[in-house]
Amino acid sequence: MLAKKPNVHGSIFQFEGQATVLYPGKGPCYRCLYPEPPPPEMAPSCQEAGVLGVLPGLIGVIQALEAIKLILGKGDTLIGRLLCFNTLTMEINTLKLKADASCPMCGEKPTIHQLIDYEEFCNLRAVHAA
Ligand SMILES: [Zn+2]
Repeated sequence: MLAKKPNVHGSIFQFEGQATVLYPGKGPCYRCLYPEPPPPEMAPSCQEAGVLGVLPGLIGVIQALEAIKLILGKGDTLIGRLLCFNTLTMEINTLKLKADASCPMCGEKPTIHQLIDYEEFCNLRAVHAA
């Protein structure tokens, strides 16, 4: 968002994956969806929460496809839509996403103008040092 470049986003948790395209000026940004980072204890690592081994591949291929579509300017991308893939039921749903006028990043009165120190926020320096 700060670099004004599209982010082909993917996320995974256990047996579920999600993908979307966050394109500055063309749809909601990540902070429209999640105004604040979760507290570190609410964001377990894959090692802690577990993830189906093939899931990163499935979501990664969807991300690669979306990136190719953006480069070629073809098709309907996932800008403003969140693809949700439940591999236990093999159901794929697409949710519509809207930009939030009060978003701290892209809203009418943005308050985020630079990156935060995520390692410090998540207390990762202490984890790495241990
Ligand atoms: Zn936003």
